[in-house]
Amino acid sequence: RQAKLEGSGYKLHDPALADTEPQRLLMLSYLRKALADDEFILHYQPKLSLTTNRIMGFEALLRWQNPVRGLLLPSEFIPTMELSDLIHPVTIWVIENAVKQCKIWQQAGYSFIIAANISARNLLDQQLPEKIGAILARNDLDAGFLELEITESSLIADPDRSFDVLRRLHEIGVQLSIDDFGTGYSSLAYLQKLPVDSLKIDRSFVMDSGQGREGRSIVGSIIGLAHNLRVSVTAEGVEDEASLQLLRDLGCDHAQGYYISRPLPVENVCAWLEDAAWEPAQHD
Ligand code: C2E
Ligand code: MG
Ligand code: MG
Ligand code: MG
Repeated sequence: RQAKLEGSGYKLHDPALADTEPQRLLMLSYLRKALADDEFILHYQPKLSLTTNRIMGFEALLRWQNPVRGLLLPSEFIPTMELSDLIHPVTIWVIENAVKQCKIWQQAGYSFIIAANISARNLLDQQLPEKIGAILARNDLDAGFLELEITESSLIADPDRSFDVLRRLHEIGVQLSIDDFGTGYSSLAYLQKLPVDSLKIDRSFVMDSGQGREGRSIVGSIIGLAHNLRVSVTAEGVEDEASLQLLRDLGCDHAQGYYISRPLPVENVCAWLEDAAWEPAQHD
């Protein structure tokens, strides 16, 4: 049985069975096959620098192009993958493809940073820094052009092991950022210890900031905190011009959101760059 799901085709399973073990195993077998059959794709969402007013990079966001059910969003399949070791090869697939694309853009004259999301479970893989180092070397991309986004909650499962993996990633020159900042907990205690380069303010605060004082002061506080810690700050979920202007006024470094662009299929990126209101970062 399939239930209709708004916007994106069909639910993959009967909600009544969704959390049962057989259902999870079935879903995992579909996902394993999806990886083998090359059904995953990346969409790219631009990031705008508010200091240079240029497009400075893209975040790679995973989608599953299912031949029957159409395009599926991460919320429909990533949680299942994160409960299994399948998240390891999928993350490597994402990083490899994002790095390849970044290299292609670089060869076309753009100077973009590419960001990819990694899951808590990835940080338990002691080999991750070596694997990522090998991807960068294989594609001849400088590590500074790769940014990895992790959520605060990623660090809770096994902080010591996760910290060690993060330290080694930072050592090879990869940029690290804390995603959905403000939604997790114990962030402040960890923040000082972590080798992070930036914070991404969760879109719930950014969207509220347009509405009133409270959201605005949260956003302002996070920007102040980040700058005191000497890390840069990105706002996600920027949906209108007023929010973008407010973020500029508050001294935010980077912005991302539907107002700038929705995540784009790779084949649409060049056309978007030509029409966009902002110039892309380029190298000589
Ligand atoms: P995220 O990393 O916080 O990514 C931002 C999400 O917000 C994306 O949803 C994006 O489409 C959406 N978004 C961007 N701008 C706006 C806006 O202005 N308004 C609103 N309402 N939404 C906006 P998406 O692509 O569905 O991804 C959801 C989450 O799935 C991501 O949140 C990330 O945590 C996870 N994810 C995506 N790709 C990967 C991946 O390759 N690996 C892992 N482990 N997680 C991924
Ligand atoms: Mg992210
Ligand atoms: Mg986020
Ligand atoms: Mg988010």
